[in-house]
Amino acid sequence: MTAPAQTRVAAERLDAADPLAPARADFALPDGLIYLDGNSLGALPHAAVARTRDVVEREWGDDLIRSWTKNRWIELPTRVGDKIARLIGAGAGEVVVADSTSVNLFKALAGALAMRPERRVILSVADNFPTDLYMAQGLIALLGGRHELRLVAAADIPGAIDATTAVVMLTHVNYRSGAVFDMKAITQSAHRAGALTIWDLAHSAGALPVDLAAAGADLAVGCGYKYLNGGPGAPAFLYVAERHQREFVQPLTGWLGHAAPFAFETGYRPAAGIARGICGTPPVLSLAALEIGVDGLLRFDMAAIRAKSLALGDLFIRRVEARCAGRGLALATPRDHGVRGSQVSFTHADGYPVMQALIARGVIGDFRAPDILRFGFTPLYLRYVDVWDAAEILADVLETRAWDRPEFHARAAVT
Ligand SMILES: *Cc1c(COP(=O)(O)O)cnc(C)c1O
Repeated sequence: MTAPAQTRVAAERLDAADPLAPARADFALPDGLIYLDGNSLGALPHAAVARTRDVVEREWGDDLIRSWTKNRWIELPTRVGDKIARLIGAGAGEVVVADSTSVNLFKALAGALAMRPERRVILSVADNFPTDLYMAQGLIALLGGRHELRLVAAADIPGAIDATTAVVMLTHVNYRSGAVFDMKAITQSAHRAGALTIWDLAHSAGALPVDLAAAGADLAVGCGYKYLNGGPGAPAFLYVAERHQREFVQPLTGWLGHAAPFAFETGYRPAAGIARGICGTPPVLSLAALEIGVDGLLRFDMAAIRAKSLALGDLFIRRVEARCAGRGLALATPRDHGVRGSQVSFTHADGYPVMQALIARGVIGDFRAPDILRFGFTPLYLRYVDVWDAAEILADVLETRAWDRPEFHARAAVT
């Protein structure tokens, strides 16, 4: 494991020796900007510009409707799904790209509850990402209010799984703290109790090695626009383990999840395999961009990406703690590599204006209520010197109280 650099020159030397360093040139990044928010919106790969232009001008402009076959638009959801599968330890035919993470969670949860009709409890944590909880609440209402969303603390999950649990629904990497659940151990506990699992991989896919097969995972969902670099509003993915696919029925029974969409039958029959996770027409432009983002990750070894991510995180923690001591920051992320995702978070009572002041200085992270400063590490386009400099700028913002100006206190709609 790379030891954190002690000087800026040492950080430069780490960059010079970094096997992932050449990947940075594949991304469009404005000069002078330190982008620590690839966990919210991944950077733009240059190849996505050329690809989406080609899809718009040639495939849409010239080939028009013929593109569904000629340019294989119809295959995009399963083709890109098969590529994402390679990043998350899934097999070909187990992942499809469609809709948003929220909608896929709804489909996965409905499918899981239908597979455990005698059980009534959806088990999760109170600090799960809100949309996951909201979608569960909406589904419970739709199903007549017979189910219960039971929320416990993360540490209490294993002990809370019992014979009433239908499904354990968790986000693998916590969006605020970056703490990672032990996917395999929890999945095994769930299975011993006869329950299913749904893993939300929004902060995992493309960020750290995930092995759904080794964990024995049942269902999973994940996000296209974060570490997969698929672009704003990129479609999300749905994973259904092959052994569950025959039994998996999801309620959004649109025509493209039908066994024979172009037979235009009156009655719904689900497609064989993962295609039954599709609802309607795929967003072709977004899928084309997402495919470029995923291809970019597949060119590199996930173990190398993980090693650099942890090294960047270690450097950031070390520098922030050295330079910002006594300035109200507290580390909110596990130091332990075994349970840390690809982000580092600190709490600060004035977290919101501090982050706004940082952004004004060209260091982009984000703020998560109530008090979290969140910094994401994306090893393909982030350098050790960026992390070094970000910590210096944070120290300066805190020391000079540059954040304590009215314009930095005004809340924007998106934080
Ligand atoms: C980002 C994120 C989502 C996003 O859901 P959308 O439907 O794409 O808005 C869902 N769940 C988690 C855990 C996330 O981090």
